[in-house]
Amino acid sequence: MILIIGAGLAGLSTAYHLGDRASRVVEKELEAGGLCRSYQMDGFTFDMTGHLLHFRQAEIKALVERLLAGRLEKHSRRSFIYSHRTYTEYPFQVNTYGLPPEVVRECLLGFIATLTSSAVTPPADRSFKAWILENLGEGMARHFMVPFNEKLWQVPLDELTSDWVSWLVPKPELKDVINGALGIKDKAFGYNPSFLYPAQGGIAALPQSFLPGVRDISYGRELVEVDTQRRRATFQDGRVEDYETLVSTIPVPELVRRCTDLPQAIRDAAEGLRCVSVYNVNLGVARERVSDHHWIYFPEPEYPFYRAGFPMNFSPALGRPGCSSLYVEISHQPTETTPSPELIRRIRAGMEKAGIFRSDDEIVVADVKDIRYAYVLFDRHRARALPAILEELKRRGIHSIGRYGRWEHTSMEDAIAQGKTLAETLRAS
Ligand SMILES: Cc1cc2nc3c(=O)[nH]c(=O)nc-3n(C[C@H](O)[C@H](O)[C@H](O)COP(=O)(O)OP(=O)(O)OC[C@H]3O[C@@H](n4cnc5c(N)ncnc54)[C@H](O)[C@@H]3O)c2cc1C
Repeated sequence: MILIIGAGLAGLSTAYHLGDRASRVVEKELEAGGLCRSYQMDGFTFDMTGHLLHFRQAEIKALVERLLAGRLEKHSRRSFIYSHRTYTEYPFQVNTYGLPPEVVRECLLGFIATLTSSAVTPPADRSFKAWILENLGEGMARHFMVPFNEKLWQVPLDELTSDWVSWLVPKPELKDVINGALGIKDKAFGYNPSFLYPAQGGIAALPQSFLPGVRDISYGRELVEVDTQRRRATFQDGRVEDYETLVSTIPVPELVRRCTDLPQAIRDAAEGLRCVSVYNVNLGVARERVSDHHWIYFPEPEYPFYRAGFPMNFSPALGRPGCSSLYVEISHQPTETTPSPELIRRIRAGMEKAGIFRSDDEIVVADVKDIRYAYVLFDRHRARALPAILEELKRRGIHSIGRYGRWEHTSMEDAIAQGKTLAETLRAS
């Protein structure tokens, strides 16, 4: 029997693609979806922060379009950066037009300097900070890349590696940077110029669409212990399941902690993996269209949030008529806590300062979710430790997959793709 821990997209996709092979999904929450759940509150539907579908793999796009046939809508991205009291389009490096002239000049001169510089750090030693300076230059580093990323990652950027960056932050050509400084637009940039999103119900429609193809799933059951020698999993309700293969989609440090018989070196390596947590603050406001944008990035330190999005601008069915809804994201160290009223107070002040809220705007709904594992840190320890951890687990019949199982920065599409690939391998074995 193949036992799958976690009913997020990675676990659901594994079970779905295993088809009639004997498998069971066990989930600790009372419903499926993991980070792709949605919930209702006082006439609003909220996701666990914005979850928008971008595809790079035709096969996974076709699968999702089939599962959600007729229920997806396509949107051209309206994502902006708010800095220097100005909105510029995302991504920053090809859209500096509109910023104060001295900022544009610094960004251009810095970028041009990268094209002639001979200072190149070997990729294995290059930190994220060095990558930014070598590829985008001093000006873009100072005015967007460093403050934004330090707010998001909550660590100095020279602690992070750069091996994960290239698909998220493409290096532009000089022509595109110049065009962007002059306000000339001749192509779309970035990994997500358009996106798909369910017309109704929030992103939860996606995990729910897998359920009819999943043969055995149970909820409210937390995995607490794994005996990897005997291939036996114990759950909080006291039940014990024997398995041939374990597929785990829970965060890999949590999995290693639960495996009672792993070598100490592997346990220590897993304890050293770091991540950042995110407060996802969902708000309903009693005024229509407080912003026209889909989402906005805030690099400057006077705004406590790094991003805010406006779900009703891509799915009006997600809120009450005459209102707006927002998801606001604030990174924090997993060990730090801020009371919800204080978070909401800071957000309100920041939103008013940015001119998005008016002083008389009424917040009719406010809810805070703390996403404990949000962004894993790609630091040097991860680069050294992770391959050994995953290899040791695999040797013991445990496949750790998904965003937190692989301890990586990946999307819904990747979680689905990993489940599919693993299921195909297991079916063939
Ligand atoms: C802030 C943020 C914004 C994002 N925005 C986007 C976006 O716009 N587009 C996009 O494509 N992706 C986005 N993502 C990424 C996306 O959420 C993930 O790639 C995807 O949901 C990962 O699915 P998963 O199955 O790997 O993990 P999860 O969704 O975390 O699923 C793991 C499951 O395991 C369960 N579990 C945990 N511990 C146990 C246990 N001990 N026993 C039993 N069950 C357990 C959990 O409850 C959960 O259901 C975002 C992520 C974050 C953090």
